Amino acid sequence: MNREQNLKRLREETVDICIIGAGASGAGAALDAALRGYRVALIDRGDISGETSSRSTKLIHGGVRYLEQAIKKFDLAQLKQVRHGLAERRTVLRNAPHLAHPLPLLTPVFSAIEGLYITIGLTLYDLIAGQDSLPKGRWLNKAQALLKMPSLTPRMHSAVLYYDGQLNDARYALALAHSADEAGASVANYVAITGFERHNGRIETAMARDELTGETFSIRARLFLNCTGPYADAIRLMANPELEQRIRPSKGVHIVLPRETLQSDCAMLIPKTDDGRVVFAIPFGDKVFVGTTDDDYTDLNREPVLEPQEITYLLDTLRPYLAKTPDKADVQAGFGGIRPLIVSSRADTKTLLRDHEVEYDAKSNLVSLLGGKWTTYRLMAQDVIDRAGELLGKSASSTTENHYLVGGEQYRFEDWQKLQSQYGLPADVCQHLMKTYGNRAERVAKLTQEGPHFAQKLTDSLPFLNAEVMYQVREEMAVRPRDVLARRWRLELSDWQLSASLTPKVVELMATELGWTDTVCGEQIASYQSLLASFAYQAGLSNRQEKLARA
Ligand SMILES: Cc1cc2nc3c(=O)[nH]c(=O)nc-3n(C[C@H](O)[C@H](O)[C@H](O)COP(=O)(O)OP(=O)(O)OC[C@H]3O[C@@H](n4cnc5c(N)ncnc54)[C@H](O)[C@@H]3O)c2cc1C
Repeated sequence: MNREQNLKRLREETVDICIIGAGASGAGAALDAALRGYRVALIDRGDISGETSSRSTKLIHGGVRYLEQAIKKFDLAQLKQVRHGLAERRTVLRNAPHLAHPLPLLTPVFSAIEGLYITIGLTLYDLIAGQDSLPKGRWLNKAQALLKMPSLTPRMHSAVLYYDGQLNDARYALALAHSADEAGASVANYVAITGFERHNGRIETAMARDELTGETFSIRARLFLNCTGPYADAIRLMANPELEQRIRPSKGVHIVLPRETLQSDCAMLIPKTDDGRVVFAIPFGDKVFVGTTDDDYTDLNREPVLEPQEITYLLDTLRPYLAKTPDKADVQAGFGGIRPLIVSSRADTKTLLRDHEVEYDAKSNLVSLLGGKWTTYRLMAQDVIDRAGELLGKSASSTTENHYLVGGEQYRFEDWQKLQSQYGLPADVCQHLMKTYGNRAERVAKLTQEGPHFAQKLTDSLPFLNAEVMYQVREEMAVRPRDVLARRWRLELSDWQLSASLTPKVVELMATELGWTDTVCGEQIASYQSLLASFAYQAGLSNRQEKLARA
């Protein structure tokens, strides 16, 4: 992906569809549209997947909780949503096997009745999923459960094991955008839509601003698609101020704990919190993510950061399930996202077959893709591009169901051994490259031949290579240190301190590619490190804040 070339095309060409927002919804829609032969633009005011889509729980699931609700309330529509989720789970896992994989989850229970209830529910869940590559769940006795997760409380009666999917969300969205780019779309990050020019109410062009240079320009498209997730109302009202608000933003946070918290490759599902929700504790790299909360969120101009009362709530929720509970000092980082929930749907929610909606505003000619979840991003994209096809008078079917994303085709994890023998890189580095770039890992490995510095690790404790920063700038449109450390690698999510200490090195590597002066480098380092310190401050983690300030 080449940002400069794509920006030139955006200024010069008229596209069929301009997609605003490059999270799961927008990047998915761009790929679907580009594969159907449309001329497509995909832009985002921040990084690709810089918002909600990089801050999810990272589960690909039909929704065990939704199934319970569907049965309790005889809600056929919810049952269909579970079925769609489970069908899409298979597709998400298959199309990018380097970025998504099956995940075993344990649900500890405290009585035989509870165990039976959950086993029946999960058996039904597996039945709805039908034949796919995921193993089926089963009820484990206490000894079996402790073998799988020794950190569980001995007070439990037993545990129910089942499987769902887990994905590296930010890299998955990046792979979608990258695949769209390779299918002909013009993709650019850090381009904000600031207004529309309309003729008789209908949008003709969008005013865009390059957030890196401040330059403004127009984007011409036959149709504009609003895929801005929690921010969708701002674009809808910009297009037509008479529209009602449709999004109820809801904040969800995760805390990050050491991997030893679970001592397991399994995740844990806490089936019922005090406020009647589910919470997950999920292994991710060398950490465990625990979340999430669910609170109304109004200040959309502010990043949804972790706050002290949320740490207390999540630790309290975890406490009854573990033999030894972590405390506040164990919290190493945290992250929050904003769910794009739909409200006041004109259709009765019970009759909605999906938890997303494609809205067409005939007055402005704006199409908005509202709501949804990561798991069903492909279905959402298919629905919205079907609608775009009707409006553009062109019919072509979606082909995304069987389309491998960049890095996913003919992926074999074992190929790390070939990389090792061909490029002489350490085993942990080769395994990390395979899991991060899929079959594009060799392109990264090849860069190590450009100079001995490229083949060096960024730091001894991580399998990250200097060459990766070059690759991420050249091929994956990384333009800021946070793009590298939070999204292309996932270090910011799991370790603020390490991210802060590696920032100067990352900036130095980026500077050689992007031609940054010493002054620019200093600004980039200071601004990212102070952002990380502000996260620790707002979370009330003073010990972390002091260490970050020292970094
Ligand atoms: C805490 C949490 C946990 C979740 N866990 C799961 C899970 O485990 N599984 C699951 O399936 N789903 C999960 N979800 C839901 C899922 O993450 C979201 O539904 C999905 O990521 C939303 O994607 P999106 O593309 O619609 O929005 P976003 O990812 O927020 O993308 C919208 C984009 O629009 C851009 N934008 C906004 N305004 C403009 C503008 N004016 N110009 C240009 N660009 C603009 C933003 O920069 C942003 O990148 C979770 C959500 C949350 C909050």
